[in-house]
Amino acid sequence: MNSNVVKLASELIAMPSETPTSNRAISDFLQGLLEGAGFSVEELTYIDPFNVEKVSLVAKKGAGAGGLGLFSHSDTVPGDAGWSPFTPVLENGRLVGRGAADMKGPLAASIAAACPFDATELKRPLVIAITADEERGHTGAHDIVKRSQTLTTAWPQYCIVCEPSELQPVYAHKGGASITVTARGAAAHTSTDKGVSANFKIAPFLAEMAEMAQTFRAEPRFQNPLFDPPTNGFNLVISDGDTATNVTAARTVARLGIRAMPDACFEEAVRMVVDRAKAYGLEVEQRSIGPFFTDADGPLARAACRATGAPRAVTVPYGTEAECYQDYMDALVLGPGNIDQAHTVGEWIAVEQLTRAVEVYTRLIEEMCF
Ligand SMILES: [Zn+2]
Repeated sequence: MNSNVVKLASELIAMPSETPTSNRAISDFLQGLLEGAGFSVEELTYIDPFNVEKVSLVAKKGAGAGGLGLFSHSDTVPGDAGWSPFTPVLENGRLVGRGAADMKGPLAASIAAACPFDATELKRPLVIAITADEERGHTGAHDIVKRSQTLTTAWPQYCIVCEPSELQPVYAHKGGASITVTARGAAAHTSTDKGVSANFKIAPFLAEMAEMAQTFRAEPRFQNPLFDPPTNGFNLVISDGDTATNVTAARTVARLGIRAMPDACFEEAVRMVVDRAKAYGLEVEQRSIGPFFTDADGPLARAACRATGAPRAVTVPYGTEAECYQDYMDALVLGPGNIDQAHTVGEWIAVEQLTRAVEVYTRLIEEMCF
């Protein structure tokens, strides 16, 4: 089973499913795999705003309502330059590739754990859900909770969002907005003078963001004194793919984060950033995530602590689809791998995390479905 999870995670990494592209191919593969393991699979498709077909899957084994669902997404952020994102490599106890941690590795672990169970043995049903467009506003998750017959006619009682948490049970996270601003240039050796630097294109916008950061720190209306710190955590990170100094940058991506607090002009702050990016003719993608909160001492959190050996459930600063699922099921975030690896060049997950995750999910299925 343990070699299975690494093999399956590698197969999934080798099937590109970057959010802007269709996830049809990987979804067909997953559907075949799940049906072969005795799941009934519901496919939900939609056309995204860029006219690209997206697919979410809801697979169920066993009858009736209740039981446990393991929830993942099949899309990843773009592969990016500077490495071979879709050629999985196993080295030094790590599996390297786009999605290794976020979240083809965790998805593979949930499937490796769920497949061996026989439908006739289950006292309560077992669900595997795999959504599209997690990286773009949790669109697939918000779609399946409204349209999936499998879910809406018989909700699982418990929902585990398998996002990487280093197998720490997570009972709460803050909300926030993530804004991705992309400038496009043309790469050329500077000796030719034929290049267009994406860095120079984005520079004026970045200068404005530095001023905006001062504004958010200075003006009380962007703050809430009930929080420590009271500020919105406005942050900016930049990547041009480590372009050499004698080459013009083809693509520069700035990612900005703003934390959501009540009564702190959160929407206005997001709009200010988006408006300035658009004013410079830059590409903008924005997603906002609501907060997630459940009982740290509820039955699912307690079961997860028993299964992982964690002393207690924790909170994390990053958002997940649990913000959507919590309205319908008792949710918890629990998955292998470290969130710091998500979206990085050279993304990896420790094999030990993957194999432990299979054991943890297996234990939780045994506890919640029998
Ligand atoms: Zn993810």
